[in-house]
Amino acid sequence: MASFPPLGDLGAETAGLLARLGVTLGKAQGARPVHSPLTGEVIAKVPDTPADAVDRALAEAQDAFRIWRQVPAPRRGELVRRFGEELRRGKADLARLVTIEAGKISSEGAGEVQEMIDICDFATGLSRQLTGLTIATERADHRMMETWHPMGVVGVISAFNFPVAVWSWNAALALVCGDAVVWKPSEKTPLCALAVQALFERVADGFADAPPHLSTVLLGGADAGAALVDDARVAVVSATGSTTMGREVAPRLASRFARAILELGGNNAAIVCPSADLDLTVRAVAFAAMGTAGQRCTSLRRLIVHERIYDTLLGRLRRAYLSVSVGDPRAPDTLVGPLIDAGAFSAMQVALDAARGAGAVVTGGERLGADVLPGAYYVRPALVEMAAQEDCVRSETFAPLLYVLRYSDLDEAIRLQNDVPQGLASSIFTTDLREAERFLSATGSDCGIANVNIGPSGAEIGGAFGGEKETGGGREAGSDAWKAYMRRATNTINYGTRLPLAQGVTFEIE
Ligand code: NAD
Repeated sequence: MASFPPLGDLGAETAGLLARLGVTLGKAQGARPVHSPLTGEVIAKVPDTPADAVDRALAEAQDAFRIWRQVPAPRRGELVRRFGEELRRGKADLARLVTIEAGKISSEGAGEVQEMIDICDFATGLSRQLTGLTIATERADHRMMETWHPMGVVGVISAFNFPVAVWSWNAALALVCGDAVVWKPSEKTPLCALAVQALFERVADGFADAPPHLSTVLLGGADAGAALVDDARVAVVSATGSTTMGREVAPRLASRFARAILELGGNNAAIVCPSADLDLTVRAVAFAAMGTAGQRCTSLRRLIVHERIYDTLLGRLRRAYLSVSVGDPRAPDTLVGPLIDAGAFSAMQVALDAARGAGAVVTGGERLGADVLPGAYYVRPALVEMAAQEDCVRSETFAPLLYVLRYSDLDEAIRLQNDVPQGLASSIFTTDLREAERFLSATGSDCGIANVNIGPSGAEIGGAFGGEKETGGGREAGSDAWKAYMRRATNTINYGTRLPLAQGVTFEIE
């Protein structure tokens, strides 16, 4: 049975969490109100970082970089290892803050902090494995190799829906790579950023090799993000958010030849084949489409179902949609918490109206609890059965809204899956090896993430995370994503006495 949080008791709990995590709100008090999506109430006020302080912060970050790049990488890894330990100690409090500020259910709030711990562990190991190739040369008595060097200051711009993990994917790698980090978090979740920064400072202050200002937080909206984008002192900008934001940021970064890591919107699909294990499929679809109230970049937004199993699967999904518990994300039996704000709710309603206008059959989608919490936006997730992939299906609506389409052969399903501007995550549910392998092949999914018999969301940090097309092409977290935070130098060393030129070129002087 869903319950909604009582209005008015979140400010005190937030202040207690912040104090334990090391944030003094008095110091951070400012003009920008921070609302909790749980009730809509104001839980704190924070200042925007003034322009002169931004300028100073970037100068200090550059100074920090110049010192940090000289510290051996395994020592840098030791700082990140200690930070991971601090996160383990602060996990419960930070997870609770994520729930209060971003609205995630408790297990997802804890999962997000666990993801930070995981990437710290990964980065610590990586700090001894920043390896370059040795390459065969065509010249006698020569050796060719590549070395990887720190890049500089890394700017991180993050979205509200992963208020701590996205920063850590970038920062843990950037720090072991020898870079300094400046973070502009979402204006909707500044408290999580202040808390993470406080935990980091607690560790860095006790680590002799760490210069001051290795990590900095700048608060504010798009303007504060733009300050990172436009400043030549920021060598790499990792920007996570909507494709609209990416469209503004990408050309500005390109105009100053800065390195960009773009992690933008998704429009993720799953294909359900006739041989699929439907018990597993229903659970996977429910988590991927309704989990995090549909507010993950990898949330499942399109379900492409074979006509032979359509009615059976849809019957089960309708029941799941009508019975899923929506309410206070802190309650142990809640699976769907609130939308982040009124804007998210109205975007969902606009999308539902457009779908209805195109003839869709909609289950769910209505607002819940508005009588007791007029400033919070809880919704029943919506299942939207469409006859065709209309334009409204081809753009991302950041809400629990799952469009369902029918298909009759796999080529058609793959065409539908790929026929959207975004290219983040995708799945196929099948027990047929040929179908699974076709989906993973060059003629299958065109996404950065392609899964079999699991949903598109909930990635682990060991793999490289990111997507193609309008998702921006960036990769973060595991595999070789670390290379984006370093610059590569190719070195050729002549240990002989002659000077043979490449490609047989001759150039003899007297
Ligand atoms: P958003 O685009 O509104 O904001 C994201 C961040 O960009 C915020 O910090 C914001 O202040 C900043 N920003 C906005 N305009 C800017 C500009 N012109 N210059 C510099 N900074 C600017 O996104 P949101 O609503 O916070 O998050 C939801 C979106 O993020 C969804 O589209 C979702 O798919 C996407 N997202 C993508 C990933 C990924 O890894 N691909 C992960 C999480 C979220």
